[in-house]
Amino acid sequence: MSKQSLYAHLGAELQRLQQEGLYKRERYIESPQGPLIVVHGSTVINFCANNYLGLANDPQLVRACHEGLDSHGYGLSSVRFICGTQDIHKQLEKKIAQFFRKEDAILYISCFDANGGLFEPLLNDQDAILSDELNHASIIDGIRLCKAKRFRYKHNDMDDLRRVLQESQSCRYRLIFTDSVFSMDGDYANLPAICDLADEYQALVGIDDCHATGFCGATGRGAAEHLGVLDRIDIITSTLGKCLGGAAGGFTVGKAEVIDWLRNRSRPYLFSNAVPPPLVAASLKAFDLVEQSHSLRERVHQNAKIMRSGLEQAGFTLKPGNHPIIPVMLGEAALATKMAELLLAEGIYVIGFSYPVVPQGQARIRLQMSAAHTPEHIERALQAFIKVGRSLGVIS
Ligand SMILES: *Cc1c(COP(=O)(O)O)cnc(C)c1O
Repeated sequence: MSKQSLYAHLGAELQRLQQEGLYKRERYIESPQGPLIVVHGSTVINFCANNYLGLANDPQLVRACHEGLDSHGYGLSSVRFICGTQDIHKQLEKKIAQFFRKEDAILYISCFDANGGLFEPLLNDQDAILSDELNHASIIDGIRLCKAKRFRYKHNDMDDLRRVLQESQSCRYRLIFTDSVFSMDGDYANLPAICDLADEYQALVGIDDCHATGFCGATGRGAAEHLGVLDRIDIITSTLGKCLGGAAGGFTVGKAEVIDWLRNRSRPYLFSNAVPPPLVAASLKAFDLVEQSHSLRERVHQNAKIMRSGLEQAGFTLKPGNHPIIPVMLGEAALATKMAELLLAEGIYVIGFSYPVVPQGQARIRLQMSAAHTPEHIERALQAFIKVGRSLGVIS
């Protein structure tokens, strides 16, 4: 068929998305990122950034970024192994490895790339990957690129994980891989039980810690620290693009042999540009700030507690939990979109999430709390949710 027919097909599909309220419309934010942002000329309270500790645009990070730009330049025009490695790249990798108490770390331009380049070099068709059904898209894509047999287990269901461990007994190496915190539901993977099963069946355990690094666990070392199993996790991937300043970059940490092998074989590392020096310099600072940010960690979790109890008392249905991701369950995509629109008019910036980001019929508004939210921000959000929720018949 002609190319015109493909374009016509896409046009019709886009129209269908619009009609069904599934079209992902980008709104512009007309300010830097923060707890308050400017949207359509008005200042609104932001509840949908992954800015958990409020470090996006922290003046110390901005300064470190400027200094890195001055001392190490803008960009390297090279992948790491040709002429794209500077002292600060090695310093940051060392710092990340020490932070997670692992032997080594490898930087990528994003965590999407860290996950995309993780599985294929390590495992082949004699091996197996055991993957939670709700794992992030980047994990799913990474597994697709790998020849290992793929076993999906039901979300956080340890009986089902045991089932796939038994089914995969004949495979050589087995890697259980899971989000440590699931971004749409805000729930933790049952890492202690996963590690127990891994020991029993001689499997490795890997986690994607994007929604926990920096602010979960007593010292911010993520979900594995929070759940008391940091030393039992073999491989951790995470991002510099969320809690740790929010710009860009990702990494994988683990045993020295694993990381060194990735440096030699991981395709997004070998065939994609080095992380720009200003981001590397700022990320070094971000880890320093995280180490010192005990009060910010307390605040983000306290804020989540206050918001959750306020919404529950008002009658909203939440996914239960205690993570700063708070899903307000609404059901239909059109309702979630409408509610987000009305909340914006009340000065509250949230986004409705619908299929395919969440399952059909489970549309929701996902709130993300930040340490930078004040008690007044939270109170204003609660009042707006109650007003809009009543007007749409979501609560009585
Ligand atoms: C955000 C996210 C990623 C992608 O991270 P980037 O660094 O933005 O590519 C990967 N996995 C999970 C679970 C995430 O939440």
